[in-house]
Amino acid sequence: MKILRASARKTNRAPESNFTGTVFSDEVVAGAAPSRMRASVVSFTPGARTARHSHPVGQTLFCLSGSGRVQREGEPVREIQPGDTAIIPPDVRHWHGAAPDKLFSHLAMSELTPTRARAPRGSSMAGKLKQHQGLPIKACIRCAARRVVTAPVLAAMPNRG
Ligand code: MN
Repeated sequence: MKILRASARKTNRAPESNFTGTVFSDEVVAGAAPSRMRASVVSFTPGARTARHSHPVGQTLFCLSGSGRVQREGEPVREIQPGDTAIIPPDVRHWHGAAPDKLFSHLAMSELTPTRARAPRGSSMAGKLKQHQGLPIKACIRCAARRVVTAPVLAAMPNRG
């Protein structure tokens, strides 16, 4: 058994390429193969949110504090509050983040695909552009999510960076 001490792990700034506004990430677990588990606590400053993206095996968001927002593409923006669980199905484009005037944090849980679970941790897989269903993927192991983004979508997004 291993105990990962909070004092030994620092909070990371979430990569600007995947988020709008200031976002921090505390890794909870990045399971070693054959585990495909990825979990992080993600903390959004008011108004901050993810870029639109999807997850090949879906994603579960457990709301911890503050006031959040989540939107599935083509549907209305939904409010999410501490104690709520949002379940994002596989390959569904969506974003999540904080309410405009409140901090927000959630525990983000997802799984890598079986293929990716075999890649060694910290390998050059992280941050590399790959193809997935014809779209370029930016894979980020650290934030426990795979961002599926297309250049036109990124260009059309307001307030990026
Ligand atoms: Mn997501």
